[in-house]
Amino acid sequence: MVASSVLGFPRIGANREIKKAVEAYWAGKLSADELTKVAAEVKKTTWTSLKERGVDFIPSGDFSLYDHVLDHSAAFNAIPKRYLGHNLSPLDTYFAMGRGRQAGGVDVPASEMKKWFDSNYHFVVPEFSEETDFKLLFNKAVEEFKEAQALGINTRPVVLGPISFLVLGKAAKEAKPGFQPISLLPKLLPVYKQLLSELKAAGAEWVQVDEPILVLDSASNYEKEYVAAYTELAPVSPKIVIATYYGRLDSNVNIVAQLPVAGLHIDLARAPAQLDSVLAAVKPTQLILSLGLVNGRNIWKTDIEAAVKLGQKAIATLGAERVIAATSSSLLHTPVTLAAEDRLTPEQKDWFAFALEKAEEVHVIAAVLSGSQDPKVTAAYEANKASIARRRDFERNSDDAVRQRVAAITPDLLKRKSPFAVRKEVQKQKLNLPKFPTTTIGSFPQTKEIRTARAKLNKKEISETEYNEFIKKEIQSVVAFQERIGLDVLVHGEPERNDMVQYFGERLNGFVFTQNGWVQSYGSRYVRPPIIVSDVSRPGPITVEWSKYAQSITNKPMKGMLTGPVTILNWSFPRDDVSREIQSKQLALALRDEVIDLEKAGISAVQVDEPALREGLPLRKVDWPAYLDWATSSFKLATAGVTDALQTHSHFCYSDFDDIFTSIQDLDADVISIEASKSDMKLLNTFKHYGYSNQIGPGVYDIHSPRVPSEQEIKDRIAAMLAILPADLLVVNPDCGLKTRGWKETEASLVNLVNAARWARSLA
Ligand code: GLN
Ligand code: ZN
Repeated sequence: MVASSVLGFPRIGANREIKKAVEAYWAGKLSADELTKVAAEVKKTTWTSLKERGVDFIPSGDFSLYDHVLDHSAAFNAIPKRYLGHNLSPLDTYFAMGRGRQAGGVDVPASEMKKWFDSNYHFVVPEFSEETDFKLLFNKAVEEFKEAQALGINTRPVVLGPISFLVLGKAAKEAKPGFQPISLLPKLLPVYKQLLSELKAAGAEWVQVDEPILVLDSASNYEKEYVAAYTELAPVSPKIVIATYYGRLDSNVNIVAQLPVAGLHIDLARAPAQLDSVLAAVKPTQLILSLGLVNGRNIWKTDIEAAVKLGQKAIATLGAERVIAATSSSLLHTPVTLAAEDRLTPEQKDWFAFALEKAEEVHVIAAVLSGSQDPKVTAAYEANKASIARRRDFERNSDDAVRQRVAAITPDLLKRKSPFAVRKEVQKQKLNLPKFPTTTIGSFPQTKEIRTARAKLNKKEISETEYNEFIKKEIQSVVAFQERIGLDVLVHGEPERNDMVQYFGERLNGFVFTQNGWVQSYGSRYVRPPIIVSDVSRPGPITVEWSKYAQSITNKPMKGMLTGPVTILNWSFPRDDVSREIQSKQLALALRDEVIDLEKAGISAVQVDEPALREGLPLRKVDWPAYLDWATSSFKLATAGVTDALQTHSHFCYSDFDDIFTSIQDLDADVISIEASKSDMKLLNTFKHYGYSNQIGPGVYDIHSPRVPSEQEIKDRIAAMLAILPADLLVVNPDCGLKTRGWKETEASLVNLVNAARWARSLA
């Protein structure tokens, strides 16, 4: 018998109960007890629905009110000192670590967040030092195991593994120089022992211990630690299955193969080709192999026939008793259920599987692999084959013109007409900008009035004409404001955009949208990624009318504002049937036409934002060059179709360029803006070190906080920048867009920014 397994489940609840309850708790409108009750209901629904769908290994302990890594740090007493001594309940201390706290005399910032591997989920980075005093403050795995048990449901608890926990963390500020979190392993293991033995005592037969760092190059440095840790833990623990996901193990499989554990889970959705090498490595061992056949990272229906083939291959080597059919990773990255989507056409709905539907797929795959004759299984299998065939038909009949256009891309399409040095002079003439030109990143405050107007339009309470008039007024006031305070390169403020990706997706062919497809980004923040379902093309101009209008009411240069191809792709659910490279290039061609149209409409600067360029980097270094090649080519394809006079801008929301520096240079944007206010001057030294040659605007103030930077602070930053970067390359701008800010602080901050730039001009 092949068993079925789900590695983890979305926490939000089918009706966003958790998001609402957590936010109500923060607002003081819900008590801690009530919050616990809502959470218990959501967990119960999850467990019972997984059981009803025939899943054998149902996860528990994976639920979280904020982030599972944060849960783990809190449970293990890895709580930075700054959160202690405020007289906060454990729950409030936990939330303070996640999101900061500024109330009742307590003022602590949030802990650092980082992207969880190559996903758009963010985890709260654990902080360690020599002082870290691990203790098991609570045992979430046991509590949830018992909670499910009381409902008559036997689960397989999930625990973040010790090596991944330490390696994903960072040295706290107070740690001694050179401190390595992994050095804490001997102190950490007793706590794991306690956790796991409590699980065993509670009756858990299995435990899923997540060690996702095993798909990274760096894991090979920790072989010794892996052996030490699991040799110590296995004897006191329920049977351990080590879970890896999001990538391939490569040689790290040899680390696992020597551990005294009972099972290994591998991701075959992301890395199907690893099956052979993993089978070879585990064959001589006793390990049970859990096959990640159902993709936890996307929303496409699984091709069950293909999954069954992989399963049969594993069975042929290991025997059915040693094989489990599973989701590739936790289903955290997928929405809860397709059932609530009533605006998708039946044809579209037939393509997808969200978390609950994926759970069903896992069951069917396991049943087929077990030789089940159950008519329900046979019917589900046949229905799946028919769906997949319909989808393949659809794919074959996609847009030929788009495909031919991608196939016909030649290297000269990626090159501007002249090199930067020449363009710079042409643009100087055309744009007539002062030294240290000032600009912003695009958005201005998205006020309540703007969101209300959009909501009214969607509910048809106001007409399109009325809405457009409203947006025009917004643009007028944003433009007038920028003129009044003396900014140099203006923007229209993006009031018409609901979201920087969705707005474009809605105006391109090839996308569909869900009503309830919420996916956790961090804490209580969820996004609803668009889905790319077919070849992407631009039915007509997208932003041109708005940019043209904005330019018509000012004599200063108006910057057009687009989201770049790589970012649109990374923040959408991509297709499964063609490569990301092809999808990115289709997007790039559509945007290229838009950039060309903007220039034709009299716009002299266009910004193409690529904040997601870096997060798209593959997990393994050997895969970087290929990605960076198509990613930079896509940007260039989008921006190189114009004359030398058009000033292209790009923007990146981060300050960590070490890994992608040459690619940034390679983009050949005339101006880039980057987040820099919080980083020290090391960042600019990186740019200097590599000889960055185009114009650059390192952000002079942090837009994530309502705090107004003083004029002097900005002057100091500019002065520090000028000590490193050539004066004629420096542009003055904030860190990022202003859409989440209020008007008051925006106005005050930008006035100080403009005055500081004027001061810099007066120095020369
Ligand atoms: N132009 C966008 C804005 O200003 C860029 C946002 C981003 O890069 N995240 O909002
Ligand atoms: Zn940004």
